[in-house]
Amino acid sequence: MKPARFAYEAPTELEAALALLSDDLVDARVIAGGQSLVPMMNFRLAVPELLVDLNRIAALRYVRVDGGTLRIGAGARQAELLRDPAIEAGWPLLTAGVRHIGHPQIRSRGTVCGSLAHHDPVAELPALAVALDATMTVAGPSGRRRIPAADFFVSYYESDVQPGEILVEAAFPPVEADTGWGFAEIARRRGDFALVGAAGLVRAGADGRVAAARLVLFGVAERPLRATAAEQALVGSDGGEDVLARVRELVAEAVDPVADGHATAEYRREAAAHLAAEVAADAWGRTR
Ligand SMILES: Cc1cc2nc3c(=O)[nH]c(=O)nc-3n(C[C@H](O)[C@H](O)[C@H](O)COP(=O)(O)OP(=O)(O)OC[C@H]3O[C@@H](n4cnc5c(N)ncnc54)[C@H](O)[C@@H]3O)c2cc1C
Repeated sequence: MKPARFAYEAPTELEAALALLSDDLVDARVIAGGQSLVPMMNFRLAVPELLVDLNRIAALRYVRVDGGTLRIGAGARQAELLRDPAIEAGWPLLTAGVRHIGHPQIRSRGTVCGSLAHHDPVAELPALAVALDATMTVAGPSGRRRIPAADFFVSYYESDVQPGEILVEAAFPPVEADTGWGFAEIARRRGDFALVGAAGLVRAGADGRVAAARLVLFGVAERPLRATAAEQALVGSDGGEDVLARVRELVAEAVDPVADGHATAEYRREAAAHLAAEVAADAWGRTR
């Protein structure tokens, strides 16, 4: 299929892009990598009157580490995160998860901020942003807002980017010392969207026990889900088989997934329980 007719603008300044989005009478949409929007337009699931292309705004095209924080501008492609050894060293959970996004062609066009703004509930980046406690900066007609990842993802394909706004940056704070990571997902084929996935961070204390844990599941709810009861069970434990069995039980109790054409709710529940324990074990193993 081909998209419906639309107008197209490619401003070179953020302010000009915001001005184009500010007209309430025009159904305008931002386009970044086009890897989700163009298929949606081809299937007529999205029929914007005007596309505002961010690709010529040089000021948005950056990935930099600034005072220990990783800052990713709206023009940065997903693949750029995989090219810099400093990013891999500082945020190995992020790069491990990004490697699971589609195929190299998708990652070299698709942007980090586009994936976050689009918020597919089975996408990797929203879950990674919650796990890594990222902060989003959104620019709009009345200035900028900063939103923690925990509040940014609202529901299926809905983030807290309001009409007329652009997600200009995602910022990932430094990961604490003595923290290990784990990432796992189940997809039918390598490169397919995940059915269910999990991302985890575990910090080791000086006493050799778990000092802190974050476990985030995706593909089981309308947005990335913190497995808080399982996290609490891990803290103070020795990270061994007993607590991992408890993690499985607590995650199975906590999730309430829906069935769709890809997997039953029961399959998703079991998969989430096992993946949560797997990433917790991997993360703990990487602390030592
Ligand atoms: C074959 C295929 C396989 C894929 N597999 C995966 C996968 O396994 N995992 C995965 O996570 N994704 C996957 N994707 C999607 C891919 O990651 C997209 O790149 C991503 O979802 C959207 O980023 P984009 O830059 O392409 O955004 P676009 O497609 O340009 O835009 C998507 C939506 O976000 C909005 N938007 C984009 N940027 C901004 C911004 N800065 N501010 C506000 N709104 C914005 C647009 O208006 C649009 O509504 C796949 C895509 C394809 C085609």
